[in-house]
Amino acid sequence: MSAPPGGRTAIVLFTRDLRVHDQPALATACANFDRVVPLFVLDPALAGRSPNRDRFLHQSLVDLRDALRERGGDLVLRHGDPVAETIRLGRAVGATGIALSADVSHYARRRERRLAAECDRHGLSLRTFPGLTVVEPGAVRPGSGGDHYRVFSPYHRGWSARRWRDEVATPARVPLPTGVEVGRLPAEPAGESPEALPGGERVGRDRLRGWLRDLDRYDDLHDDLAGDGTSRLSPYLRFGCLSPLAVARAALAAMTGGPDPAHPFVRQLCWRDFYYQVAYAFPDLATRAYRPGSRDEWRYDEKTLAAWAQGRTGEPIVDAGMRQLRAQGWMHNRARLITASYLTKELGLDWRDGLAIFARWLLDGDLPNNSGNWQWVAGTGNDTKPYRRFNPKRQADRYDPEGAYRRRWLR
Ligand code: FAD
Repeated sequence: MSAPPGGRTAIVLFTRDLRVHDQPALATACANFDRVVPLFVLDPALAGRSPNRDRFLHQSLVDLRDALRERGGDLVLRHGDPVAETIRLGRAVGATGIALSADVSHYARRRERRLAAECDRHGLSLRTFPGLTVVEPGAVRPGSGGDHYRVFSPYHRGWSARRWRDEVATPARVPLPTGVEVGRLPAEPAGESPEALPGGERVGRDRLRGWLRDLDRYDDLHDDLAGDGTSRLSPYLRFGCLSPLAVARAALAAMTGGPDPAHPFVRQLCWRDFYYQVAYAFPDLATRAYRPGSRDEWRYDEKTLAAWAQGRTGEPIVDAGMRQLRAQGWMHNRARLITASYLTKELGLDWRDGLAIFARWLLDGDLPNNSGNWQWVAGTGNDTKPYRRFNPKRQADRYDPEGAYRRRWLR
């Protein structure tokens, strides 16, 4: 197509910020440009790593497309290298600006650098926006110097004291230029877990609304394996179907005793931000021990690893957790701690192998949280006590005293 005459056009390149509410890149483009092209590029380099997440992504894209259509726009889909496809489309529609949410992984940062270089070459301006965390990585820094916090508690104090950005309004209209070839989504991938939650901003927002009614019980219930009293919002945060800032603000507003940033639920959102700022400063978090000098020597035993992955170790609470993971593409945090500790401390296997198995199944699997938590349990990470162990029998007695969680998953 040829570039439309007059007015300014922007492309909003979506990645894992798949929503229209509190989406700074989209909102700013709609406020400042005459025409806006929302774009998602299906990147073959990222597909196929997790059938569960491939399906969740697909469902989230369908929902995003519907939300954009309701606002007069659409979701333009391309397949291939996101940088090449964005530039190609940018030239075709006569765009002058590209908007993108900033991300922390090696891959995402390399994509951003390549895009910046290509934008320079083609006279396009690239602007990055916040939106993947409550507080941007690097925005809260230790007074003593250094580019990030290594320990959670002082980070939490800085995070709570910081003035968070304002939520941005959902654009009323997304003015797509005429004549853009929209492209089609492929068929929905099958996924692997029969009980996986469906993706999308709408489902995520409904879930948040329903769950906030239980917020006051979170402190009592969040470690009760059978009680299942956590939000299960993690997959929606992983794909940006929900804005973490909007979730944190909604939780503060729903607290019956008044807003309290030290509330355990908001504190968990801070753990998420904490690992993002760690991964931003230490991009090898998925592959290299974070803490210098930590013991990082492990055994390799394929059969034992496979038995752990399939929930066949013979240790009931561990097997229950791994079976929940396979059935739901999600596992309770307490069970993640127990199964990860069992792999590294009882079986002596490498945390990277456990991380890879979690990464395949988890709907919420992402580099900062998966790696940061695995390293914490393995004793190589932040804030960690190298000799900490979670005794599976004592953990089961304490967090599944009636055995209901084990009965449910070991049937
Ligand atoms: P809630 O208890 O309702 O908490 C609300 C939100 O806070 C979560 O959705 C999540 O975004 C954040 N959060 C909670 N606990 C943590 C934590 N320990 N670290 C960072 N953020 C947290 N979480 C992921 O999102 N992706 C992962 O890949 C991941 N891998 C993990 C691996 C191991 C070995 C362990 C021990 C934990 C891992 N977690 C991961 C953290 C945590 O288990 C999940 O975030 C949580 O269970 C998600 O369920 P929820 O949404 O009901 O949590």
